[in-house]
Amino acid sequence: MNGHKVEIVNLQDKNNGLYTCQAITTQGNVLTANFTLNVTSCPPNHHGSRCEKICNCLHGSDCDRWDGCVCLEGWRGYRCEDPCKPGTYGLKCESSCVCKNGAYCSPSDGTCNCTAGWKGTTCSEPCEKGKFGHNCQSDCTCKNNATCHHVDGTCTCIPPWSGTKCDIIKESDLQVAILISVSIAMGFLAFVGILACKKKCKLFDMHKPLPEEEYAVCELRRMEEDLADKLRPGWLERWQIDSSQLTLGDMIGMGAFGLVTQASLALPTGQRTVAAKMIRFNDKLCYQDFYRETAILTVIHEEKGYNPRKSNIIQLFGFNITSNPKCLILEYASEGNLLNFLRQKKNKLHYLLYFAIDITQALGHLKDLRISHRDVAARNVLITEQNIAKLGDFGLARDVYNTAQYIPVNHQGQERRLPLKWMAIESLLHLQFSCESDLWSFGVLLWEIVTGGTDPMYGNTPQPTCQQLVEILQQGIRLDMPAECPPDLYVIMTSCWSEDPTARPNPEEIRENLIREQEKLNPHQVFIERETVV
Ligand code: AMP
Repeated sequence: MNGHKVEIVNLQDKNNGLYTCQAITTQGNVLTANFTLNVTSCPPNHHGSRCEKICNCLHGSDCDRWDGCVCLEGWRGYRCEDPCKPGTYGLKCESSCVCKNGAYCSPSDGTCNCTAGWKGTTCSEPCEKGKFGHNCQSDCTCKNNATCHHVDGTCTCIPPWSGTKCDIIKESDLQVAILISVSIAMGFLAFVGILACKKKCKLFDMHKPLPEEEYAVCELRRMEEDLADKLRPGWLERWQIDSSQLTLGDMIGMGAFGLVTQASLALPTGQRTVAAKMIRFNDKLCYQDFYRETAILTVIHEEKGYNPRKSNIIQLFGFNITSNPKCLILEYASEGNLLNFLRQKKNKLHYLLYFAIDITQALGHLKDLRISHRDVAARNVLITEQNIAKLGDFGLARDVYNTAQYIPVNHQGQERRLPLKWMAIESLLHLQFSCESDLWSFGVLLWEIVTGGTDPMYGNTPQPTCQQLVEILQQGIRLDMPAECPPDLYVIMTSCWSEDPTARPNPEEIRENLIREQEKLNPHQVFIERETVV
């Protein structure tokens, strides 16, 4: 049988259809073959001039017969696997974001999710007077005509007022006020008849203007009692640094209670650049934070076999508490805090995961010491010159076995300190803090890393109250998977957010999973252990 060729010139849609081919064999048998000609579409998931390529499109995109994957707004790449680069959005990521002041720009439609203290479509307007925080939803609580910062609501007092809310008058300015307050406090103590409480400072009203030194001594005594099984006697002398050894320099940061400056420390080996952390206001909350951090860092650094080169906890050089300003002297982390670092969007995710891996080391270390940090968040992670992440700000940290003593006090100052959106469900419900609740916060820290330092948000409630947040979490709602997040990394995050604290992985397991994830993201580079060069 000779083959015949049928040629259709100038192939068009109208030529589509069923074609039947018949041939008669020499024996007279008729052979029939059918085939469908389709010049306009390929089989599902195929494209190319001969439909020879496979699409496997991601993120809801369609497979076009000629063009392959046609990405939805916010996505790019051959299979639409990549979100738009930071600063771009929309179809083919061709539009430029206009969000200001560190706002998150939605890759799909370019809408701006402002950081705390800013509003407007481009987040360029500060909150109106009297408001602060995320979406400008918080009311300022500054008293006595103080000005309120639009980002974090901190108050700048007008003399003679001082304190976090500018509702305290300094002792030197108004002796009479102190006498009245002290007599009220004494009367109160006598009334409840618990003289022992005076020793532990528990019933002192946070807003009564007790003299600065009295606060300090009181807080110090409390820390020693709480950490009695861990702090070896003589710790204050062992770590005391004389003020003549220290030269303070420029301010480099300000937290809720601490004020941090660069400083130069004279050591037998020469001058060393350090960070000096001082209290921000002469009030009880600041002293609480200051001495808690001093005592906890001492416990960590006096642990047998402790090696600061291998540790991912900010190094303590010592402290000066015998003269003013009292300060903690810490290793200087030249790259500042992780939150600011993330918002600069300089590094790829696989690199940023190094920081998360570093912090799992720190959490493992704290777990061994039975200490919970209580405020694990990007803002409290510091980045050193060698780009090593170290956990800092131990102002909320406590011995997990002594937490029952800390009955929640319903003073506004104390409430304001609780980092709600980073807190585990049991911490929100019962103020239970543990190494497992730190793990929950670590999950939120991972989420911050993946989103480039976006403020965590549950659904459409940017700044939920404690009760709203508990309800959200009890419904099983968790932070969404960020657009740019590899699904397996999101699985790691959500494992930190198990309602049952014992079901959460331990820091070592998380570390191994993150190293695996990092290797998947960058298969050409193996994980390298790093240590601080002293
Ligand atoms: P903190 O009160 O510990 O949260 O510190 C407030 C800010 O000061 C941080 O967010 C950092 O930007 C900066 N800071 C704190 N400690 C250090 C340090 N050891 N080295 C460099 N910057 C620091």
